[in-house]
Amino acid sequence: MTSIAEAAQAAAVFIQHSAATSEFGPYRGADLARTAVRLASTLSLSPHHITVTPDWLRRRTTPGEPLLATATCPATGTRYEFLARHPLHEDDPFELLGPCLICKAQVPLADIRHLADLGTFLTTGPAPVDGGAIPPTYPDTFADDDAHTPTCPYGPTP
Ligand SMILES: [Zn+2]
Repeated sequence: MTSIAEAAQAAAVFIQHSAATSEFGPYRGADLARTAVRLASTLSLSPHHITVTPDWLRRRTTPGEPLLATATCPATGTRYEFLARHPLHEDDPFELLGPCLICKAQVPLADIRHLADLGTFLTTGPAPVDGGAIPPTYPDTFADDDAHTPTCPYGPTP
């Protein structure tokens, strides 16, 4: 069994190595690696089970562009996709992405601050939506997420 000290040192090495070898350069590479370590900690996984890529759909021109972090379950191979909308804000929850019940686009369905948040979502699933009021279990970002299709009643208003 890995000690806390060994796991912590491995996380630091992971960030240093990822920053040094990232195709996005050392600063962006470190952002990606920190996000991987943070999601890995949230899900009680090794960072090696997390893949982080820029989110080309939700790009901004401000620092700290959004990142997509995919966790692959080492036991089942199931993949879970998370959005770090403001990766420099490490207090923000991850947004679990899944199909919009209306337009099927990959949109935020739950805020995940810790493992139990994911457990709750996996137990209950997304609450039904009908194009009107959004149930309180959805993240605030669901309503105007850029991924909704143009015909979906949700999504950014033009
Ligand atoms: Zn939608």
